[in-house]
Amino acid sequence: FFSNKSAKIFVAGHRGLVGSAIVRKLQSLDFTNILVRTHADLDLTRQSDVESFFAAEKPRYVVLAAAKVGGIHANNTYPADFISINLQIQTNVIDSSYRHGVKKIIFLGSSCIYPKFAPQPIPENALLSAPLEPTNEWYAVAKIAGIKMCQAYRIQHGFDAISAMPTNLYGPNDNFHPENSHVLPALMRRFHKAKVEGAKEVVVWGTGSPLREFLHVDDLADAVVFLMGNYSGLDHVNVGSGKEVTIKELAELVMEVVGFEGELVWDTSKPDGTPRKLMDSSKLASLGWSAKISLRDGLVDTYKWYLENVKQ
Ligand code: GDP
Repeated sequence: FFSNKSAKIFVAGHRGLVGSAIVRKLQSLDFTNILVRTHADLDLTRQSDVESFFAAEKPRYVVLAAAKVGGIHANNTYPADFISINLQIQTNVIDSSYRHGVKKIIFLGSSCIYPKFAPQPIPENALLSAPLEPTNEWYAVAKIAGIKMCQAYRIQHGFDAISAMPTNLYGPNDNFHPENSHVLPALMRRFHKAKVEGAKEVVVWGTGSPLREFLHVDDLADAVVFLMGNYSGLDHVNVGSGKEVTIKELAELVMEVVGFEGELVWDTSKPDGTPRKLMDSSKLASLGWSAKISLRDGLVDTYKWYLENVKQ
């Protein structure tokens, strides 16, 4: 993978948080033949369009970062979209990749593929060991099908399809929606607004005690290219930072990075969610990869991006 930097690499989902970071990473490593398509130019849910695209372009490598994603509210409201769009995108892209001579593909999911009450830290083999969290099972079932499809194509066809499951990601191009986003972008936006408006306090949901693991998306992109170059196994691979923080610690760090100097107010009528969510990333560590970007540095970088893009 690293020896031929002019090979054509199709990055599906290049405008999203993950896909955009992968394009930046490939560019920084001097890969010269990165292929992208906007949604308007290629609808990945349309099988015949995807077939024609692969037949015409014949990419050598594929990074599948295109997906319908969203928080708990979106998952509850649009379950049909979450299961059908994700199943269609991944089925079309994985199958077309195999049929049109792609040398290797990586499929990306998330930690919500694991059971609601998985052991902590969550090892890869917790997959399908117990029931899922019901609020996002539509998305999770589609992503599990994608992992299984990669495995099946490897077993039956010898196709080099791998999967990576990242922990909670953050970084440039994240969703900063006030209600629908995840905690880190939600807090960054709220602290920024409070600073600009000179507010005295900022409301944070829950008790502040839940533990979460965060990974900067540039670290994920680094892990993705590492796996493209160094891993061809049957099983999916967790990608985490291995570092946990409480929501209170996170809130204090975001507050400091943004430069808000007022008080935190905890709204305990809002749910805490699961008390702890940590991936076991020891498999990836044993392959020789670990995260490099500290949460503080990652927050500084993300806030810089936010300030440059906030008006859009
Ligand atoms: P989760 O990791 O699936 O629980 O997703 P979230 O990122 O939405 O929430 C993580 C934790 O942050 C939960 O304990 C929330 O209660 C807490 N939290 C605190 N403030 C906020 C906020 O403004 N938005 C969100 N989404 N979560 C918040």
